[in-house]
Amino acid sequence: MITLKSDREVQQMKEASDVIVGMHMMLRDLIKPGLDTWEIETKSREYIESHGAIPSQIGFEGFKYATTISINDEVAHGLPRKGLKLQNGDLVKVDTVVEKDGGISDSAWTYKVGTVSPEHERLYDVALESMYRGIDAAVVGNRLGDVGYAIQHYAEDENGFGDVRDYTGHGIGPTMHEDPQVLHYGTPGHGLRLKEGMTITIEPMINTGTWEVITDHSAEDGWTVRTADGGWSAQFEHTILITKDGPKILTSQDPVRDAKYLL
Ligand code: MG
Repeated sequence: MITLKSDREVQQMKEASDVIVGMHMMLRDLIKPGLDTWEIETKSREYIESHGAIPSQIGFEGFKYATTISINDEVAHGLPRKGLKLQNGDLVKVDTVVEKDGGISDSAWTYKVGTVSPEHERLYDVALESMYRGIDAAVVGNRLGDVGYAIQHYAEDENGFGDVRDYTGHGIGPTMHEDPQVLHYGTPGHGLRLKEGMTITIEPMINTGTWEVITDHSAEDGWTVRTADGGWSAQFEHTILITKDGPKILTSQDPVRDAKYLL
């Protein structure tokens, strides 16, 4: 069911979002070559819980961690791994969902570890811009196909990267995954029409090569999604609110770039 949020519900989601934003700002300073991925998990969980919030991914379909940590060719849902250290040149994606006082929020970010190659710099930039192209299309009266098309056209037609089809954005609030499903590809003018008060995530996963992915179904993992061809992947995700004044980013980390998207 699609719910339209009241001002009070938006305020609760903003408070949960502020915790995620603070966590990502903390990670921005923490992430560097040599850092153990386990430390990303423990420090993030500590940050969330010490700010009166709950890490919602713990217990979701048996998942054990506050964060997913996906490196290089890992697209999403990677596990924090004790002893796995980040290396110079890596791209690490950290995704989390938190709840606070009835509000919920979801945001993933890609971090560059030390100095990354020019190709991976370009992947980072295109993935970030892909998300913004989707957000810009998320205006009242547009359809979800307009959002998906904006992302796909930019990532694939203009930049020659792969735009993952298998994982999507989603409605959010009161729980983590609500209707509608927000595809990151599509046909302009098709799909559900966007309305004021909807809260959704936009979270394209962009690959250097094919958009196709494979999931690790081994007993010791069972979660990690990787690119099918070993190319690298980058992802950015914001929780947004559709308003008559345009899309608003609840999880913004960048008040300068995001000035027009702030509530
Ligand atoms: Mg997420």
